[in-house]
Parts: sequence; C-alpha cells; structure tokens
Amino acid sequence: MYSMLKRLSLSLILLASSIGALSCTPAKKKQGGHAAGECEKLENLFQKNQEWVISRTKKDPNYFHHLAELQTPLYLWIGCSDSRVPANEIVGLEPGELFVHRNVANLFPHTDFNCLSVLEYAVDMLKVQHVIVCGHYGCGGVKAAMQNRHIGLVDNWLRAIRDIYARFKGELESISDQKERENRLVELNVMQQVLNVCHTTIVQDAWARGQQLWVHAWVYDLSTGTLKDLNYCFSSIDQVEEIYRVGNEGATSH
Ligand SMILES: [Zn+2]
Repeated sequence: MYSMLKRLSLSLILLASSIGALSCTPAKKKQGGHAAGECEKLENLFQKNQEWVISRTKKDPNYFHHLAELQTPLYLWIGCSDSRVPANEIVGLEPGELFVHRNVANLFPHTDFNCLSVLEYAVDMLKVQHVIVCGHYGCGGVKAAMQNRHIGLVDNWLRAIRDIYARFKGELESISDQKERENRLVELNVMQQVLNVCHTTIVQDAWARGQQLWVHAWVYDLSTGTLKDLNYCFSSIDQVEEIYRVGNEGATSH
C-alpha cells in the first residue's frame, strides 16, 4: 500500500513538472535573454495585428462582422509555402476571396488527405470555380529535388518532383543553363499537379454534375512579382486522359 502511494505521488510530481514545462510560467530571467521555460510573447506581431484591425475598421466599421458571417471565395489556390509567395497579396484579393492550401513545392499528391480534404471542401461546399496551382521560379523544394543531398523527411515529399525530372530527363538535360533547367522543372511540376487535381474523383464528379470548374497552371516570378499563365487549363473530362477517368455514375447534384 505504502509503495503504491509512493508511486502515485511520484507520478503526480512528474505530471506537475511536465505541466509546468508546457505552460508559460514566469521563470528567472537570464541576463540578456530568456530563461528556460519562458515564452517569447512576440508582442510586435500582436501590435501589428492591432494596427491592422484599426486600419481595416477605419475603412469599414463592419468589416470583421461581414467577414465572420461567411466566406464565398471563387478561387482555390494551391501554392508553395515559401514566405515570399503570399497568395492573397499577389493577386490583390482580400481575406474571404481566396481559399488557400500551401505546402513545400506546391504538390498535390493523390493520396494526401490534407490536399484532398481542402479540394473537396473548396469544390463541394464553397463551390469555387477556379483551382489555381501556382509554382514559383527559384523554388527551394524544386532545387532540392534536383540535388543528391540528403535533407531529411522532406526528401520523401520531394520524391514526386524527382519522378517528374526522370520523366522529362531528356528535355531538362538539353537545357544547359542550370537556372533555366530549374525554371522548366518548376513549370513541369505545376503542370503535373494540375493533372493530379484533375484526376481526383472530386473534380471529375463536379464536372459530371455540371459544375463549372477550371483548373489552372501558373508560375510566379519572385524577381519581378509577376504571374505567368502556362496556358495549361482544364475544364472538362474530355481533356483528361482516358485511363484517369474514374467514371461518374454515382455523382449526385449538390
Ligand atoms: Zn517553393
């Protein structure tokens, strides 16, 4: 009995110390830095947030009230996580106008439940009319996929780009300039992701029930801030290679 109580009190002590480690309890400050366990509060970001709220409500006192009511975006953006590619800003759209999914190198693997869930929600619930896959020149993910360097877990993610490289090896290796070759792979990657989007049951079911849906391939140029349309746009099942047509007898109108 005594040993049981001893074990229980030891567990409680361990639990309490782990809660202490997780919470932002004030700790003794080291000179010129933060003590272990002390949270950096990022007050500058909260300050900027307050300034943003003030500037928005100055223009329209009901701005946040309207925004909170509903979102009716016409577009789904599938882009790279790169901090230099802020989706809304590039296309001059306001919050509420663009549904966004971003990951390293703007991939759309057909087995990724994150991508599929976003696409399903955007198409079936929000009824977006355009899906834009947007890559960008100078993409670190694409560059990494062209090297034999081991980075970590992300190598498995970027494997999809290596597959594209292998498929277009002839074309890519005929380009002598390294930067141009990288740029071309960026474009080929975007086009492949467009195909991946079009090969989903989500897009094909939408087309089958007569929902208008365009899937676009774009590239953003970091050095000029401009967008390029690769003119690789899909809006019908007829454009999809036959083997990827999954049939849509079960598709119902929403
Ligand atoms: Zn990128």
